[in-house]
Amino acid sequence: MALRLHSSHILDGEREEDFSEDRGSDPSSDGEEEEETWDDWMSDSLDKRPCKSLFEDHTFDTVQEATLNDETRHGFSLKATSQALGLDHYKRIRLINWIRKEHPTPAAVAALTGAEAFFSSDEYLKPSMEDDPLLQIEPDDLSDSDDEVDPETVEPPKDLDTAARRIRALRKKLEQAKDGIAHYRNFVNKRLDLTGIVDEAKASPSTHVGAPLRDDDSHYFQSYAQNDIHSVMINDKVRTASYAKFILSNQEVFKDAIVMDVGCGTSILSLFAAKAGAKRVFSVDASDIVEKAKEIVEANNLSDVITVIRGKVEDIKLPEGFEKVDIIISEWMGYGLLYESMLDSVLHARDRFLQPEGVMAPSQAQMMFALCEASELFKERIGFWSDVYGFDLSAMGKNVYEEAIVDVVGPRTVVSEPVVVKDLFLGTITPKQLDFSAPFKLVSTSERRIKVHAFVLYFDTFFTSTGEPLPSDTPVHVIQESDPILAEVWPLGGRAYQARRMSTGDPLKGKGRPKVTSFSTGPASVPTHWKQTIFFFREPVSVAEGTVVEGVFKCRKNADNSRELDVEIHYSVREPEDPAPSGELLVQMYKVR
Ligand code: SAH
Repeated sequence: MALRLHSSHILDGEREEDFSEDRGSDPSSDGEEEEETWDDWMSDSLDKRPCKSLFEDHTFDTVQEATLNDETRHGFSLKATSQALGLDHYKRIRLINWIRKEHPTPAAVAALTGAEAFFSSDEYLKPSMEDDPLLQIEPDDLSDSDDEVDPETVEPPKDLDTAARRIRALRKKLEQAKDGIAHYRNFVNKRLDLTGIVDEAKASPSTHVGAPLRDDDSHYFQSYAQNDIHSVMINDKVRTASYAKFILSNQEVFKDAIVMDVGCGTSILSLFAAKAGAKRVFSVDASDIVEKAKEIVEANNLSDVITVIRGKVEDIKLPEGFEKVDIIISEWMGYGLLYESMLDSVLHARDRFLQPEGVMAPSQAQMMFALCEASELFKERIGFWSDVYGFDLSAMGKNVYEEAIVDVVGPRTVVSEPVVVKDLFLGTITPKQLDFSAPFKLVSTSERRIKVHAFVLYFDTFFTSTGEPLPSDTPVHVIQESDPILAEVWPLGGRAYQARRMSTGDPLKGKGRPKVTSFSTGPASVPTHWKQTIFFFREPVSVAEGTVVEGVFKCRKNADNSRELDVEIHYSVREPEDPAPSGELLVQMYKVR
């Protein structure tokens, strides 16, 4: 999996303006005063109320301006979406609060079906933003440009009958609007402890200003509730086909085994495991996507084999009578391998649930590092900004020296042999070892003198049928377009092992020479959804054949958000005939987020 989080997961504890004064909403005031306050508040013309965009950190002067902005810039209309999904009052409120809290992309919002779990969750009845005017309007208050009626231009009624009809219709609309407001007011008073919320907001230390709240988990799992991300992962054939091949062509390993799928998503890997003969599969996920997984398992008549368990793998319990599993399968890899830090959860599951002889699938992953010419990407990401319609916008390109870029670079851009900067054996590695520092030496293979713009990082993944480690120089299978694995047909069942396994009845007996499945996410492979991770040099480096770029690669979890990574690269350049570097030692720090 590979999820782009950026900083949007951070809940902004900071309010741009405080309206509580205008509303006089003193929580200690008595009911009558509160009545007045509410009425005053509601009678404020919406047009006079500032309103924050749903997709930008920008507050507009009016609700109309904010919604128009969201429509034109982000293609999102609250009215159209409410109609299309048939959202009632409460569901619309949950949608607004959900968007404000979880910061989904407009595309993710456009993909909603109305069946998502948050539409029925009380959590999202609570305003995500204080005084949110969007929560106080009916979608009909938001005029679509085409049904907007300008009183100046509307035709006067032709006769008394028409005039009376119009008045009746307008009265009805007014009544409906009043009803709506009364309804919402009632609902807010009943369902939400407004006073509590105001108290909480007041009590929340002002240190929130400039020190945003952290919420690494809820945004993370919300992101995996969306269909889109699962569709991207499943359509990444290099990824999904490699897992399928490992599972389906090692039936001797899976037959009668108890399997745990950590982060099952749609349950696709569990389905493969069931197909390969697993006796029982526990499919665990903390995201709302598990509801889909349950449906999928039922639809495929596998409920007697696959049990979907909702929750963080760190917190769940196995059903009565089960303590350990024989195999853990998981697709936990993030950009540059460790982004998202899901591996920590998988290792936690290993330590709690895997029997001592058990198999981790995948069993090994290697972080690969190389020199990357990257001139095209450099032009696209940095050079481009220096001349935009004749203006110098290079300020826009500056942060690329501090942020890793995730993009696909072609195989010909790689101008050194890659080196392994971290070899992770899943059977024994510990979470602590995921913060690391590794020396590297890259030797240019370029036949002519060229400018090199970046380092490239990617990872290779290995599965062994026995779960045992492989030497770090084990060649990886680099999948090309013509690779039969992409045709999605895999043999079922292994021969020799199967015979032995069946006679012993013990899922893990009969281990022998391991069968290996692997795939690479490097530039030489068919691109995967992980693409490659690029670290631009602050100044391009000139290399010819044999030029050495050496130094230290350091990687650790970000202190503020454990799902992000801080990468620090120390490097110097030396020509092959020189014993010492020609230039100074350079240090660059990057964020992977
Ligand atoms: N196995 C699926 C989905 C992989 S994406 C597939 O191969 O298509 C990773 C999934 O792991 C996400 O659905 C995410 O919600 C889940 N996940 C991540 N950390 C988890 C944890 N600690 N506990 C339970 N689920 C987790």
